[in-house]
Amino acid sequence: MERVDGRRFDELRPIKIEAGVLKRADGSCYIEWGKNKIYAAVYGPKKVLPRHLEKDDRAILRCRYNMAPFSVEERKRPGPDRRAVEIGKVMQGALEPAILMHYYPKSMIEISVEVVQANAGTRCAGITAVSVALADAGIPMRDLVPSCAAGKVDGQVILDLAKEEDNSGEADMPVAIIPRLNQITLLQMDGKLTEQEVEQAITLAMQGCQQVYQLQIDALRRKYAGAEYE
Ligand code: ADP
Repeated sequence: MERVDGRRFDELRPIKIEAGVLKRADGSCYIEWGKNKIYAAVYGPKKVLPRHLEKDDRAILRCRYNMAPFSVEERKRPGPDRRAVEIGKVMQGALEPAILMHYYPKSMIEISVEVVQANAGTRCAGITAVSVALADAGIPMRDLVPSCAAGKVDGQVILDLAKEEDNSGEADMPVAIIPRLNQITLLQMDGKLTEQEVEQAITLAMQGCQQVYQLQIDALRRKYAGAEYE
């Protein structure tokens, strides 16, 4: 089957990751994933505000996801909406199990994801970028968290749906993993799949995550081998 952009069923869109791109954040990352363009920034660990959210035995993780008005075809109304709140929540759930939260009691790690161009799969690209930004900030983690979706288009289970495929597709299933623990930390599904297709999609998405993982590691290697970014 030929895909809209000529990819094989198990092929990711082209992905470029740069660590440490923002001077004023403690850690940062820029990712281009197909036509998605996303910045991730990490602040902290720092004091918890408001104070009553503080935990005695560990840090809290706050995740903000924002899509710029010019990031999509029809201008998006600025500001948070239900979708942004949901994505903030699932990003938190995907990332927290990888972070050694108990190292930082009574503190807060603040994460911002800014989508400046969107083309489907922004939550996966966002999670991927944030975990590189966390590593760039020097926050101790069990592992990076690569993320990638699989879905179903024209009756076929395929990897990493682009926007046109997402629009016409039957299902989309974003997945994130902690490779070293062989643990899934994000699994959502939109649409309909048979039991067998669910299995296929999870396997395919996890294989995609492994490829994304290598690109994350390469990006961090490049940064710490001395490459400079303005
Ligand atoms: P994800 O980006 O994680 O795949 P969704 O499945 O909710 O999340 O969205 C799929 C795609 O739809 C987004 O990547 C974006 O390209 C587009 N999209 C999302 N919200 C809007 C919006 N408010 N206006 C226009 N396009 C949107």
